[in-house]
Amino acid sequence: MKPSVVWFRDDLRVADNPALRAAVDDGAAVALYVLDEESPGIRPHGGASRWWLHHSLAALREDLAALGIPLLLRRGDAASVVRKTTTTLGAGALYWNRRYGAAERTVDAGIKAWAGEAGLHVSSFQASLLHEPWEVTTKTGGQYKVFTPFWRAVSAQEFREPLAVPEQGHGFTGKLPAYDELDSWELLPSKPDWSGGLAESWTPGSAAGHRVLAKFVADGLSNYSEGRNRPDTEGSSRLSPYLRWGELSPFEVWHALGSRQSESSSIFASELGWREFCWHQYFHNPNLATANLRPEFDRFPWAWPGSNGSNGRHPGHESAPEELRAWQKGNTGFPMVDVGQRQLWSSGWMHNRVRMVAASFLVKNLGIHWQLGEQWFWDTLVDADPASNPANWQWVAGSGADASPFFRIFNPEAQRVKFDPQGKYIAHWIPEFGTPAYPEEIVDLKTTRAEALEAYKGMKEVH
Ligand code: FAD
Repeated sequence: MKPSVVWFRDDLRVADNPALRAAVDDGAAVALYVLDEESPGIRPHGGASRWWLHHSLAALREDLAALGIPLLLRRGDAASVVRKTTTTLGAGALYWNRRYGAAERTVDAGIKAWAGEAGLHVSSFQASLLHEPWEVTTKTGGQYKVFTPFWRAVSAQEFREPLAVPEQGHGFTGKLPAYDELDSWELLPSKPDWSGGLAESWTPGSAAGHRVLAKFVADGLSNYSEGRNRPDTEGSSRLSPYLRWGELSPFEVWHALGSRQSESSSIFASELGWREFCWHQYFHNPNLATANLRPEFDRFPWAWPGSNGSNGRHPGHESAPEELRAWQKGNTGFPMVDVGQRQLWSSGWMHNRVRMVAASFLVKNLGIHWQLGEQWFWDTLVDADPASNPANWQWVAGSGADASPFFRIFNPEAQRVKFDPQGKYIAHWIPEFGTPAYPEEIVDLKTTRAEALEAYKGMKEVH
């Protein structure tokens, strides 16, 4: 019997995995994961993502082994690796779940064309999004640019039930081609190993994702409408890395919510909707991480290295490197910004409200380009997502789809009083807060706010 290859990408799970199911249904399935850092346009993973990926692949290998399916790991450009592996195995079929970035789709289309010529059966499946981006269009056939009508259109539908883990297959008994040892990819940091905080905070892998989901549905969901805004409590689900790496599918999470009758469950469902909205934006705008969706923002005088001038606010600091560094390290003197950055640096995750506060401060009070913040998050978040990260940065900056209006400039002090009223969250991550060891404020909130609004006005007035 010819084996079937299932190519894993951002879907590191055995449950609700239609590509895996198809391969198992054929008979002897062999799983493949390719660490592709070579194909044109593929964004290399950040440090925290590499840590997560290592552990996630280790967990996937065990889950697949329990089904009698070997996982082959290969590093290289995906087109060559997939061709070579399927040919060496003498595979009869190749399956994968779809991905939505332009560079990734180009790779997939090339492989599909080759496989067709080579007489290999190829099928791809919908697994990572509740709705395919090309199927959700406005009445005039365009792309939704505003979330509310988008979600109204999408959430009115029911989504398929998640697929069960396949039964153990016949097992592949042939000779496996050479494959890499996971450790040889050196995804884990050494020299120094900064991942202790990540390991304390997270257990990557699908089994852990299911546990987090079950606990959230049992204990957190009923209070989500209030709890989600409170970084000092465990009010949100913390499912983002599991969704990012596909250890949980959105179909599994959607159906775990049950009837969605309560305010909390419908708000939570709409957060899944924001994830979809970000991915649909990314599908339609492959340069989401590098180009303003609203081109008038190209004229905004943000500071950043390589830009052709300062933003005029930080004389002598063309790229504002000191402010950027202070922001990254959580040393701005504004506790609601610093606490998030320290939580991020230590645990690889930051609460959503604090992401908004920290991002607004960088972009509006420090006047630094959103792309520098996006890149920092890309490197440090365990849920660093090619769509949600740039889409949310553009949302905060005002340059994105359905974005927060530019004049909405979060006041970190007001946010602190409102969302960390007893100071528990800050005390946890900034032990020296309130002592002379805590840094002084690096900017004046009022002045920088006025400057940001002035710059925005200037941008609007130039034609
Ligand atoms: P919950 O509140 O429990 O929400 C459930 C799920 O809905 C999340 O796991 C996530 O998959 C999705 N979700 C919630 N809010 C959003 C949102 N605004 N946009 C897209 N999906 C959302 N999320 C990422 O997954 N990856 C990123 O790289 C990322 N970067 C961000 C950058 C900035 C500047 C901001 C403001 C937000 C970013 N987000 C990102 C969105 C959001 O902050 C996280 O999804 C959320 O904090 C994850 O925590 P949770 O799982 O407890 O969320």
